Amino acid sequence: MTTSPQPVTGLATWAGELACPVCFSALHATGDTLTCTACHRIYPITNGIPILIPNRAEPSQLK
Ligand SMILES: [Zn+2]
Repeated sequence: MTTSPQPVTGLATWAGELACPVCFSALHATGDTLTCTACHRIYPITNGIPILIPNRAEPSQLK
């Protein structure tokens, strides 16, 4: 009898392998969002799927 373990891969596990589509820097998982470590754009995560679309990203420091 063999059991196939299903590793629970958290978002933070692979978030570091994603790149910001704007500046291609690393992304940092913060709760339900991904934040670029360089330009600080915030990408929403909808239903567990990161939406890496520059138009939908919210620049957090442009106000
Ligand atoms: Zn960026």
